[in-house]
Formats: sequence, C-alpha cells, structure tokens
Amino acid sequence: MSVASTFEVRIPVTSCWRCGHAIDSEDLYCRRCETGQGPRLAWYYRPVWIVLLAFTALGPFALPLVWRTPRLSPSAKWITSVVVLAIVSTALRFV
Ligand SMILES: [Zn+2]
Repeated sequence: MSVASTFEVRIPVTSCWRCGHAIDSEDLYCRRCETGQGPRLAWYYRPVWIVLLAFTALGPFALPLVWRTPRLSPSAKWITSVVVLAIVSTALRFV
C-alpha cells in the first residue's frame, strides 16, 4: 500500500444546479458560475422567501424564481405557479 493511496480522499462529485458544471459535493459555490450551492443558496431562491415575495411585492413576477430554484421539484413548481396565479388573479378582481 502506497502513502498516496492511504491519504487519498474521494470526495463525491455532483453538478451545479444552475450551470451543470461538475463540483465537489462539499463545495458551497460553483467554481464556474459562482452560484451558491446547498446552504449558500441565495435567499431569493428559498421557497419561503419566494412565497413571501409573491404575496407581498412581486405577485406574478415571482414566477421566474419559482421555476429557477433548485429547492422545488418539477411538480412542486407547477403547483406553486398555479396557486400564485390563482391568488393573484383573485386579488386583481378586488382592485
Ligand atoms: Zn455553476
């Protein structure tokens, strides 16, 4: 057994959610596009903030955030979009 193989640490490789570049699973930022990964995800891509922005300031303009966030599954993105549009269209009737 060589010294190099003794100290070799295999870090699992994953990919950036935004650009698809290969990154280590422990990386907090992508080395190509510098986008935050996992716990360093930008606050406006977190589902709680997206919902808050949609119902306070952005309305339907929050939908691009819904579709770009890596935190929601494709079905959750559809459900969130339909709910946001339904509530916004209901609210516009009272304006
Ligand atoms: Zn990237």
